Amino acid sequence: MNEQKLSNRLTCVANYIPKGSRIADIGSDHAYLPCYAILNEMASFAVAGEVAKGPFESAQEQVIKAELSGKIDVRFGDGLAVITTADAIDTVVIAGMGGTLIRTILEAEPQKLTSVKRLILQPNIGAWQIREWAENNYFKLISEAILREDNKTYEILVLEKTERAARYTDKERLLGPFLLTEKNDVFVAKWQHELANWQRIVAGLQNGQESEQNADKMKELTKKIQLVEEVLK
Ligand code: SAM
Repeated sequence: MNEQKLSNRLTCVANYIPKGSRIADIGSDHAYLPCYAILNEMASFAVAGEVAKGPFESAQEQVIKAELSGKIDVRFGDGLAVITTADAIDTVVIAGMGGTLIRTILEAEPQKLTSVKRLILQPNIGAWQIREWAENNYFKLISEAILREDNKTYEILVLEKTERAARYTDKERLLGPFLLTEKNDVFVAKWQHELANWQRIVAGLQNGQESEQNADKMKELTKKIQLVEEVLK
């Protein structure tokens, strides 16, 4: 992978950037995504934010190597803290982290999302956290994608601001309203795998010691199993 040729996962993320956007890539690591977005005229300006020193330095080196320092500002900092009002960022990308961490980043500084029209989020796990965050923060899903690469399954969630709070059913929140409708092979394989895993855990809990904690876990998993079985049948 380099700034000219991204992984399929990051290409899919980049394809959701509206042409000419001003983007912030939070957790930019090697800064390939902002470089690619500028080189392909998807973005006109980018902030590449990084909280870890090593990835921050490799992002800096990459931007200098690609001769894009005039259009990409690499900034060291936690989450959305790297964005200023003057940047007029309209599109935020957060990819390659867990859903819980992405949600924490979004919740830490909601005022930084004032000028933002679109969020392109790629949680490695726990996408439901983002759908639930959207319901509480006047963002709605406008598209979702699921793909498999290097033996891993990735979900990409695209959200835009909305005046009316979005509401999702339990099934939609867990599996994704768009993914649920499309129900492609990657989606089916992912949830078959999750289902088998949960069924194994429930069997273990049934044979284990009785406790309030185990009972709660069993209740939660049984509900999820029921939702997913309904979808896969
Ligand atoms: N976004 C790239 C991608 O999708 O390939 C890099 C993903 S990498 C697994 C996650 C990166 O996010 C790491 O470089 C990590 O240092 C950075 N990161 C984690 N938490 C962060 C935060 N709160 N603010 C900024 N960067 C963060």
